Formats: sequence, structure tokens, C-alpha cells
Amino acid sequence: MKHLFYLLILGMTVVSCLPEETEAINLNEELIPHFEAFSEEAEKRGYSFDWKEDRVEGFIGDLSDEKILGQCIHDNLDPNSVIISETFWNNSGFYDKEFIVFHELGHCFLNRNHNDDTDETGMCTSIMNSGSQACRANYGADNRDEYLDELFTL
Ligand SMILES: [Zn+2]
Repeated sequence: MKHLFYLLILGMTVVSCLPEETEAINLNEELIPHFEAFSEEAEKRGYSFDWKEDRVEGFIGDLSDEKILGQCIHDNLDPNSVIISETFWNNSGFYDKEFIVFHELGHCFLNRNHNDDTDETGMCTSIMNSGSQACRANYGADNRDEYLDELFTL
């Protein structure tokens, strides 16, 4: 009987120590393909990104300043969140959308800071450029791989 009692206590302790499995991680439907593409590119370069496991949320909405295209909010307790300007999103093509999502995930998942390094022609060498015109950026099909190699070189 005493043995059973201890077993019950132990069982209860184990259960109560399990992490909450029901936590919902919110991701805007339109961002899903870009989060998944980031995951694939990460994997090719030896990283594993799973927005649910790594707890990174994604929203499209209004940002306080029109000039800000996206934001990453770090939070020690709650999931980190990527917020993309709705105006920018609705007026951008595929590569501009991918650029801003990957840039924000660079902050929110890879913990990278801004980098305004340039090559000899004044082009930004990093997708993590600050957007402050310190360098010229033109992310697209022809330089995507190069930029992504740089993004995942930590
Ligand atoms: Zn940034």
C-alpha cells in the first residue's frame, strides 16, 4: 500500500512537470509559405527551424511608423514574434515579401543584428542590412542563394 502511494505521488509530479503542450503559436496564413521556405533553407545549411517548436509567431498588421516594414519582438517568456507591415505586404512582390520575412527571422530566430557591410559596388552584402540606405539592397532570384548563405553564416 505504501509503495503504491509513493508511486502515485511520483506519477503526479512527473505529469505536473511536463511542459504545456497546448500553447498555441500564431502564424498568419500568408506567412506560412515563407516560414516554411526559411525552414528549408535553414536545413540545407545545417540549422533546424520549426516555428512551433522554436516558438516564433508571425503577424501582418499595422506598425507604429510607416517607414518600418517589419519588426521582431523578442520575449523571454512568450514566443518571439515577427510583425510585417500590412501596407508593405499588400504592395510587394514575392522577393520583397521573402526578404522582409527572412530578415525578421534573422532577428527572431538567428538572433542576428543589423549588418550594413557593402561590396565594392555599394551593394549590401547581407539580408540583415538596416534599410537605412547605408547600402543598396536588391534581393532577387539572381542573388538569393548568396544572401541566404550569408544569412546562415553565424
Ligand atoms: Zn532589422
